[in-house]
Amino acid sequence: QPPPVQTASDAPASAALLARASEVIPGGVNSPVRAFRAVGGTPRFMASGSGPWLTDADGKRYVDLICSWGPMILGHAHPDVLAAVTEAAAKGFSFGTPSENEVRLAEEIVARVEPVEQVRLVNSGTEATMSAIRLARGFTGRDVVVKFAGCYHGHVDALLASAGSGVATFALPDSAGVPRSSAGETIVLPYNDLPALEAAFAERGHEIAAVITEAAAGNMGVVPPAPGFTEGLLRITKAHGALLVSDEVMTGFRCSPSGFYGLEGPYAAGAPDLFTFGKVMGGGFPTAAFGGRADVMALLAPQGPVYQAGTLSGNPVASAAGLATLQGCTPAVYERLDVVSHAIADAVAAELSAASVPHTIQWAGSMFSVFFRDGAVSSYDDAKDQDTSAFRRFFHSMLSQGVHLPPSAFESWFVSASHDDEAVDHVIAALPAAARAAAT
Ligand code: PLP
Repeated sequence: QPPPVQTASDAPASAALLARASEVIPGGVNSPVRAFRAVGGTPRFMASGSGPWLTDADGKRYVDLICSWGPMILGHAHPDVLAAVTEAAAKGFSFGTPSENEVRLAEEIVARVEPVEQVRLVNSGTEATMSAIRLARGFTGRDVVVKFAGCYHGHVDALLASAGSGVATFALPDSAGVPRSSAGETIVLPYNDLPALEAAFAERGHEIAAVITEAAAGNMGVVPPAPGFTEGLLRITKAHGALLVSDEVMTGFRCSPSGFYGLEGPYAAGAPDLFTFGKVMGGGFPTAAFGGRADVMALLAPQGPVYQAGTLSGNPVASAAGLATLQGCTPAVYERLDVVSHAIADAVAAELSAASVPHTIQWAGSMFSVFFRDGAVSSYDDAKDQDTSAFRRFFHSMLSQGVHLPPSAFESWFVSASHDDEAVDHVIAALPAAARAAAT
């Protein structure tokens, strides 16, 4: 039976916008996972968001379980963030000089994540990981980078091999346009596999500048590090003089006030040398950061020889949004994220079980994802071994009932503290029909 993909007539205004967009924007979207290619149907063009709700161009409302892929931890158009942004914008949008808001945002990050002594603000998670890699290469004088299959670190040439997120969604082996030389300096290993890392270091340890890992993988669906994995990464990198880059773009300030580090650290074997952040720290605006050990960060221009820059870096409006968002992340916010995510996940599990649909739910803090398979997922190979067509049917049933899930089986679901009981109940009410659709 074909999946009940909604047709353009279910979302005529979005379909019309997609047609217009496709004339002037490749594929009609500015980031591939938005295109619904993995699930089929018409991507919804959103007109507005408020708290846990999105309203599309046709005026249909959805409970949002994407939350802009992480940033909207307080919900859409949160009044405190809106006030901070409005106040900052009234004073000017960008100066191209230093300004106080960026100092305050940097101070807030450094205060939260203990091993981070200094940060440099950038505009996207991709810039953060790209710059961290350059810095690690500059610091060590080595070129090779190790990454793990299924981890996504943005669309940096050297880090696209076997990446998660859209690369997983579209089953792309790698991207065209990445020079062989660049890919040749990347070693891709299975996630959660320390013996594979030991073997790579035994062979090429003197060439390896850094190991980069998602603090907890969220881009092949949620796959937390196995007990001891992060300790092992620290032990092995330190033994060989390589740096460990902990990518907390997705987990940072979401899994806890100090990110996944706050849940798993501090570590007996020391701390990651560099961290990358994005998403929550920008509150929905384009700002991100990389930071860590002061002696490593000291190598950045203008102090040191590793060049890194940005016209809009530390933008005062984006910094104000990020600061207001971080300051809004009170203990009550984290409690609410836990309550909401568990209420939804428990109901998903119950309904999928009732409909005899194989599933596994995995967690990193309040981030969770639903794998349409039996058994734990600890690697990208495991994650790929699931029934993506069951997900597709489930997704479209939820969408038709006004719940917007990430349009891919390889993504985390994100909730916000603004998801009130009405929003949660709306999601739960949609689940029985979606579970039956997944079963067919
Ligand atoms: N690193 C991780 C762990 C991410 O999840 C992402 C984006 O999803 C990135 C890096 C790239 O961030 P951006 O999309 O802001 O470039």
